Amino acid sequence: MAAYANIIIDISHEKLDRPFQYRVPEAMKKQLRPGMQVLVPFGNGNRATRGYVIEVTDEAEFDQERMKEITAIDMEGIPVEARLIALAAWIKENYGGTMNQALKTVLPVRQKTRQKEKKRVALAVSRKAGQEQLLQLQKKHNTARARLLEALLDTPEIPYEVVTGKLNITSAVIRAMEKMGLVMVEKEQVYRNPISFVTEEERNGKDRHFTLNREQQQIVNTITEDYKKAHYNTFLLYGVTGSGKTAVYIELIARAVAEGRQAIVLIPEIALTYQTLMRFYQRFGERVSVLHSKMSAGERYDQFLRAKNGQLDVMIGPRSALFTPFSNLGYIIIDEEHEASYKSETIPRYHARETAIERARQEGASVVLGSATPSLESYYKARQGEYQLLELTARIEEKPLPTCEIIDLREELKQGNRSILSERLQELMEDRLKKGQQTMLFLNRRGISGFVSCRECGHVLRCPHCDVSLSQHNNARMVCHYCGYQEPAVKICPSCGSKYLSAFKAGTQKIEQIVKERFPHARVLRMDLDTTRMKDGYERILSAFANREADILIGTQMIVKGHDFPDVTLVGILAADLSLHTSDYHGAERTFQLLTQAAGRAGRGREKGQVVIQTYSPGHYSIEQAAAQNYQDFYEQEIQYRSLLKYPPVWHMMVMLVASRDQMYAELCSDLLGKKIEQAREQGKLEGLVMVGPADAAVAKISDVYRKVLYFKHKDYRTLVHIKDVLEEFTGRHREFESVTIQFDFNPMNGF
Ligand code: ADP
Ligand code: ZN
Ligand code: ZN
Repeated sequence: MAAYANIIIDISHEKLDRPFQYRVPEAMKKQLRPGMQVLVPFGNGNRATRGYVIEVTDEAEFDQERMKEITAIDMEGIPVEARLIALAAWIKENYGGTMNQALKTVLPVRQKTRQKEKKRVALAVSRKAGQEQLLQLQKKHNTARARLLEALLDTPEIPYEVVTGKLNITSAVIRAMEKMGLVMVEKEQVYRNPISFVTEEERNGKDRHFTLNREQQQIVNTITEDYKKAHYNTFLLYGVTGSGKTAVYIELIARAVAEGRQAIVLIPEIALTYQTLMRFYQRFGERVSVLHSKMSAGERYDQFLRAKNGQLDVMIGPRSALFTPFSNLGYIIIDEEHEASYKSETIPRYHARETAIERARQEGASVVLGSATPSLESYYKARQGEYQLLELTARIEEKPLPTCEIIDLREELKQGNRSILSERLQELMEDRLKKGQQTMLFLNRRGISGFVSCRECGHVLRCPHCDVSLSQHNNARMVCHYCGYQEPAVKICPSCGSKYLSAFKAGTQKIEQIVKERFPHARVLRMDLDTTRMKDGYERILSAFANREADILIGTQMIVKGHDFPDVTLVGILAADLSLHTSDYHGAERTFQLLTQAAGRAGRGREKGQVVIQTYSPGHYSIEQAAAQNYQDFYEQEIQYRSLLKYPPVWHMMVMLVASRDQMYAELCSDLLGKKIEQAREQGKLEGLVMVGPADAAVAKISDVYRKVLYFKHKDYRTLVHIKDVLEEFTGRHREFESVTIQFDFNPMNGF
């Protein structure tokens, strides 16, 4: 019985992307389970290679005589939950990539790390026997042993480090007494706790005791009723920032937890962990944990174990927390569901929202998507009846939304103001400083400046290895953000010799400098990739600002989302249109979302908020509708545009990237693939398909690798999956493809 195992070899290569069958040795039969990591002989040299068991079966798929045997179960490797193997298969099928890559995706913590232990020395005999022994030891002048025994007669259990420290007893003495049977050393496993930085005051919370308002209550009821009936729908909770969505999540989860079920709460990025974690901690205490990439391997492993062992009810974290091994999942909550970070940028390029819905379907859980600015995708699906739309229409305690002003930067320049801060914004900042209120300045860029161009001939300094412009940093070096290439900043145009070279746009450091010059007495904090590189970097800056240690917070995207700072009454958006100019079709949506979210940071406390949007395109509908805080009108306009151009969510899209160090092969292969599909279409097989390309990718070269793309659009997602399968099979059969790599991206969030 169960004599064979189908195993995915831990090598990601299209040619190996199928299960290999091995014999299960007699001694292993009782132990071996699907999901386990094993070592098997593989390849010509029969080298010991890691693999994942995906199935244990009685059916031999080929000649038993030639079949090799599993060498060992890898006890250091964490097994994939059997349930998550099915999810991995779904990911592979729907997003491309190999089964090995998919298995690794659903197993974000793969290796066991050493457990931390607490040791204690305890008395191993009765008090009476101990006292007798003590007399003996004293007689023999065994002072060290006597000292320990005496202490243990006083306190029967003493931490090991106290024994070796304060009592000054060596481990040799402890071992000797263990041998005599007088004492024992007890070990207790302790989990590393990622919440240790939290202060007592924060843990207890200040004002978290409230009852849900009527709207919140209704939403909780709707979702719980559906949940009780085991329909397990997907809900889209649309509510402006501060309308009480998080409070709804907490209430739903509390009810599920009361029934012995668990919940996963996804947040878009690590920067948001801190505040979210506090809110949940105040409700669920030690039964909440977090899982994210800035934690150490040991910390992550421990949280994984705690979840698996039933010691946790709620796991909070970015994308990969979706694969937390809970055994009785009740809810998956996706907060700020519109965020692009829910889409993986590495293979498999899965979307956490869709994958969550699939996991919930497989395990009988419900999904709640929350946002103040739902993705076009989700809102469209809600309109189509695929998701159930629920709305929170007002801010808690009827706090009014902030007022927004649009400042035309072109006019500003005409008036002679060359500063990045408009006159109006400066005036309002001055006012807030006087009143002792806080200001946030938002810029969606990083570094001290963007690209550098020549004002006389227009020459732009580019990376020699990638098809992108270099950015100037304040250490006077030019850096490529794709490959890391650096060179000293030049003073003279390499093309025409002109001296008038200049950095095009200011970054956060530059703005910090300008703000400090303009308001020398203001206390300024900056939050961007540079200042948050350290562990807990986000938390430190956020809690400093929350504790009013600064008047002004300057930052990139990461400051605009989710944070709740009651004393912020002014938000300045410095260059609203930067996000409009991207190489993909999300420009308007992203701009609307960013501006709306940024604006939502103002006036979350007692005072009404004010927002200044500075822009070069004041007439663009995404900017106008964001200023008006009008999601509906924005949606109507944007969905028309998507429909007209056959873009998602109305159509589905798949990009195929063909990359090679050899330019000729990149071109040849992308042409072959294009022709293959063209042929199928001429035979009338792929009706309704739109194919664009092959063409150069938006960035045609990265690190000397040439990149070609093919775009496919169709109303039916399955057709695109079918095309992917056809093309994968085709590339597997033709030698030309050996020097190229192929990647697929479904409904991409970024341009290539
Ligand atoms: P969102 O997640 O939509 O931004 P939150 O759930 O964070 O909104 O709520 C905003 C603020 O209002 C929070 O400080 C929260 O504690 C508070 N709050 C939420 N619901 C209520 C309620 N029913 N009564 C009083 N305060 C509430
Ligand atoms: Zn020039
Ligand atoms: Zn480069």
